[in-house]
Amino acid sequence: MKPYIYDLNKDSLQSWLSQQKQPAYRAGQILAWLNQGVPDPEKMSNLPQSLKMAISEAFDTRGLTLLQRQDSAEDGTSKYIFQLTDGNIVESVFMIYKTGTSVCVSSQAGCQMGCRFCASTQAGFGRNLTAGEMLAQVALIGRDKACRIDKLVVMGIGEPFENYEQLICFLNQAKAADRLGIGARHMTVSTCGLVPQMLKFAEDAPQVTLAVSLHAPNDRLRRQLMPIAKRWPIDELLGACRTYLENSNRRLTFEYALFKGVNDGEEQAEELARRIHDLRCHVNLIPANPVPGTELSPSPPERVRAFQDILTQHHIPCTVRRELGRDITAACGQLRRRLEEHEQSH
Ligand code: SF4
Repeated sequence: MKPYIYDLNKDSLQSWLSQQKQPAYRAGQILAWLNQGVPDPEKMSNLPQSLKMAISEAFDTRGLTLLQRQDSAEDGTSKYIFQLTDGNIVESVFMIYKTGTSVCVSSQAGCQMGCRFCASTQAGFGRNLTAGEMLAQVALIGRDKACRIDKLVVMGIGEPFENYEQLICFLNQAKAADRLGIGARHMTVSTCGLVPQMLKFAEDAPQVTLAVSLHAPNDRLRRQLMPIAKRWPIDELLGACRTYLENSNRRLTFEYALFKGVNDGEEQAEELARRIHDLRCHVNLIPANPVPGTELSPSPPERVRAFQDILTQHHIPCTVRRELGRDITAACGQLRRRLEEHEQSH
C-alpha cells in the first residue's frame, strides 16, 4: 500500500524529493498545499507536471473522502463523515466558539473501550488512524470552511491513548510551524482513563490539556458505565491526574455525563467533590444524549443544575457543556453507526 501523503513530514518529503532529483524547496511548496487541504497534486499549481505525476505514483493522495456533511442551522457547527481508503468511516466536527474555530478529531475507526453509553463502540472497531489521517481531518475541514482552525480536540471516535504513538506524531505535526501551526495550549486530548499512557503523556505533552472521562465518583458506579474502570481503579486514575498536574501548568478537565437516576444524584455530586477538591481542575457536565440500544437516559435540567450547584458550593469550577449542533448530532459516533447500518442493509 502506498503511504498516505499526509503522513509525510518535511524530512521524509525532502529525502524523497532528493531521490527524484528535485530541489529541497519543493517540500515546503507541497506541505503548504497539504496544510491548505489540497492533497491532489494536479491542483498544486506551482509544481512541474513531472513532479505531480511522480507524487501520484508514489503516494496515496486520496486518503479521506468526504461522504457527508451536516450543518447545524443553530450555531455554525458542521459534522463531517469521511471514508478512509480502506472503507472505514470516521466522524469529525467543526465548531465555532467566541474564542475561535475548533475541530474535533477522530483517532480510531471505532473503539474497543466498550463504554456503555457510547455509539462509537457499538459500531465495532476498525483500526487505528495514522497521524496523517488525523491531520487531514483538520486540513480538509479548514479548506471546506475557508478559515484557519485555531484549536483542536481529540474527542471524536476512538480512545486516543490506544493509538498513542500516532497521536503524539499528529500533535507534533499539528503544532509545527510549517504544518498547521496550532499551539499546544490550544489542543485537548480526551481519555477514558488509560493510566500508563496518561503518565507518559504527562512527560511527552504537558502543554496539551488532558480531559479525563470520569462519569462516576466511585469504582462501583464507574465499572457499570465504563469497562476500563475494572482495569484501573479510580484512585490510580486520580494518581495519574496528579502526576500530569505536577508536570503541567495546565488545568485538567473532568468530563462527567449525567444519566438520569444513575450518576446524577446529590450523593454522587458530594462524593465527586470530595474526590477531586484538591486537584487543579474543571468539571464539564454533559447533559447526556439518549443512545439507542441502551437504557440510559439524559438527566433532566433541574438535576443537572442541582449537580452543578453542589460542585460550585465546594469551589470546584464547573460548567454545563454547551450543546453545539444539537439539531444535527446526537452523541458522537451515532452518525457513523447509522451510515454503517445503512450500508449493511443494502
Ligand atoms: S466514550 Fe470514548 S473511549 Fe468510551 S467507547 Fe466511546 S469513543 Fe471509546
